[in-house]
Amino acid sequence: MLESSEGVLSVKLHFFVDEEGIRSLEGCAQATVTLVCQRCLEPMDYSVEADFAISFAFHEDMARSMTGRYDPIVLSPDKRMSLVELIEDDLLLSLPMFSSHSDGECQVKTVYEDQGPAVEAGDDQKKSNPFSILANLKKPE
Ligand SMILES: [Zn+2]
Repeated sequence: MLESSEGVLSVKLHFFVDEEGIRSLEGCAQATVTLVCQRCLEPMDYSVEADFAISFAFHEDMARSMTGRYDPIVLSPDKRMSLVELIEDDLLLSLPMFSSHSDGECQVKTVYEDQGPAVEAGDDQKKSNPFSILANLKKPE
């Protein structure tokens, strides 16, 4: 979830024609965005990076025949390709599904930190077992 749409985006693009004569684009984009921490719901800065490698095809058949290491994109004469949208999509795909502060920075402490090591908790749990009272009730007189 994006908290704000403000931020600085830096993009490097390299257009070239590869050995097979295919017009290609290599690039990387880096941006610092503000996300919402899913644990404490406070804003957090997140640095997102996306690399892309694209081959441009003029029709579907050409795209299918391109089996290189690049993702083919079919250019169409009646549809302008938006480089901005392309970069935006790649960056959005690179965002984490679950964003949260790193431990220590977050307002919400993790359960693990609150309870301490699990080994120590073992004995206490046995003593304070809420069902132990049932055992007493069932005891024959
Ligand atoms: Zn947080």
